[in-house]
Amino acid sequence: MKRRDFLLFGASAPLLANELLFGNDVILSKKKWATLVSLNRRLKRLKRYVGYANFNIISYQQALHYGRNYSSIGAFTKDELAMMDRLFYEKPAKYGFYGSQTCYNIDNRVLTKDVVKIPHTGHFLFKGKTLSDYHRLKRDIGDTLTLTSGVRNVIKQMSLYVNKIYRTHGNITQASFSIAPPAYSYHTISDFDVGVKGFGYLNFTAKFATTEEFKEMTKLNYIGMRYHKNNKDGVRYEPWHVEVI
Ligand SMILES: [Zn+2]
Repeated sequence: MKRRDFLLFGASAPLLANELLFGNDVILSKKKWATLVSLNRRLKRLKRYVGYANFNIISYQQALHYGRNYSSIGAFTKDELAMMDRLFYEKPAKYGFYGSQTCYNIDNRVLTKDVVKIPHTGHFLFKGKTLSDYHRLKRDIGDTLTLTSGVRNVIKQMSLYVNKIYRTHGNITQASFSIAPPAYSYHTISDFDVGVKGFGYLNFTAKFATTEEFKEMTKLNYIGMRYHKNNKDGVRYEPWHVEVI
């Protein structure tokens, strides 16, 4: 049986269970799947409303406020709130994700005085070592290098995670292999992603490691690579993700 069929027609599972098991993978139950779909859509409407760049830094309470006050988004339902709460606070080791927790408050605030918007990228970086590393990288590697993702507060990370669970048809185990759960992303505190201009989605694949820019980056001692091949965190290989050290 295909994973999706199992998800939709897995009638033997208890009705109130949060999730089902498929092999070693944890899959959302049918009821939770419906909540995930509506949550995913609401987060997309919220992003359209507040704008791509701003969506990276808005807080949880701000998101709820926008939902309540703007009918084009609509208020988050009780089930959606419960799901966000669960995805933020649960321990993801059961999904095979062993990375460190980076954020402990679902309503974490990113203050505008602490970040800088990087022109033409739609992204922000934290002032301090993160920002100086980025500028130094641009000087050392050249102008073909660009920022593809910077600061991501809880709502942004939540939206990426929820969308990935949607795209894996409810398979949280698979989703957490490529997107860190919302309390576990280093984008919330320091790290950022880079890519080569014009390389498009390939910047987020192992192909990025074949670029000249990447080869030059590996010679630099002031940055690290957070997710190398077969890392202990249980995260896929991400040569584009710069570890601020
Ligand atoms: Zn990253």
